[in-house]
Amino acid sequence: MNFINKAIVSVLPLLPKSLVKIFSKKYVAGTNDNEVLKVVEKLNKDNQLATVDILGEHTSHKNESLKITSDYIHLLEKINTRNLNCNLSIKPSHIGSDINYNTVFNNFKSILKTASQFNNFIRIDMESSKLTDTTIKLYNDLQSISSNIGIVFQAYLHRTENDINNLNKHSNIRLCKGIYKESSDIAYQGYEEINENYLNLLELAFKKEIYVGIATHDKQLIHSSMNLIDRMGINNNMFEFQYLYGVPMKNIVRIYHEKNFKTRSYVPFGKEWYDYSIRRIKENPKIASYVIKNIFSKNI
Ligand SMILES: Cc1cc2nc3c(=O)[nH]c(=O)nc-3n(C[C@H](O)[C@H](O)[C@H](O)COP(=O)(O)OP(=O)(O)OC[C@H]3O[C@@H](n4cnc5c(N)ncnc54)[C@H](O)[C@@H]3O)c2cc1C
Repeated sequence: MNFINKAIVSVLPLLPKSLVKIFSKKYVAGTNDNEVLKVVEKLNKDNQLATVDILGEHTSHKNESLKITSDYIHLLEKINTRNLNCNLSIKPSHIGSDINYNTVFNNFKSILKTASQFNNFIRIDMESSKLTDTTIKLYNDLQSISSNIGIVFQAYLHRTENDINNLNKHSNIRLCKGIYKESSDIAYQGYEEINENYLNLLELAFKKEIYVGIATHDKQLIHSSMNLIDRMGINNNMFEFQYLYGVPMKNIVRIYHEKNFKTRSYVPFGKEWYDYSIRRIKENPKIASYVIKNIFSKNI
């Protein structure tokens, strides 16, 4: 972590919420359903799909996990009523994995049932390596209930090749680099080696005829992924490109559209915006440099 990042990370929790909101506003689409669905509507008008995440993690009480589950179900109903092209991304620890497996499984099951009824889709976000086994088990167990479910894999983990190898043909994954701090025993640390693994995993997934959400903002990696798609002759209906709401991707989205590639924006929202922003910055101090850019320049 360089000196400036370190300094920002240490002072951030001391800053007034209003200042933290300056940068979080760029990445967080409001605090309630109406605000986030307006953003989704606009994205859909711009020919972009969306996936929505209610901010929050590590819920410790069952009743709270049930409340969040019911919030997700209401959101699905509103997405359906408004005819939006938008699915959900949900963190296991937000709806009960810290409580016990049955709680998180039953909560996912209820949301998935509603999603299937509306022909919609749920993606299970991947959290830190402490939760990788639980998340994969959840995915396998939920797949036997409905196919409208997907998972996320992280290219920085050594184990991911094996995990993708164990998937069946009809799986649906998002492939990202991975955002949590993990030790070098289990995760690649360098930029080049993570990118190399990302491309190997993407190739493996395509060979296994797995649908992939290619989730990255890294221009070099996007370019190499497009070359791979071209070289392997992968059909447009076997992948989509994904990016986080707020990250400046206009020029790249234009290229996706020119190539007729599906594009999906990951849109987080909710009352937990402050904790989420601070935690993300602490987990990955690289984000601190984006904070400075966002505070000092509106046009990055
Ligand atoms: C749609 C989506 C879903 C994700 N889901 C998960 C998940 O479930 N689990 C998980 O562990 N991780 C998830 N991530 C995060 C991911 O693992 C990476 O940590 C994150 O995307 C940064 O890596 P990168 O591939 O963009 O490449 P990097 O090399 O980190 O970044 C490349 C360039 O992109 C730009 N950039 C990257 N992030 C930002 C930002 N926040 N603001 C401004 N510019 C930025 C910078 O210019 C940077 O130089 C997700 C990412 C995306 C896009």
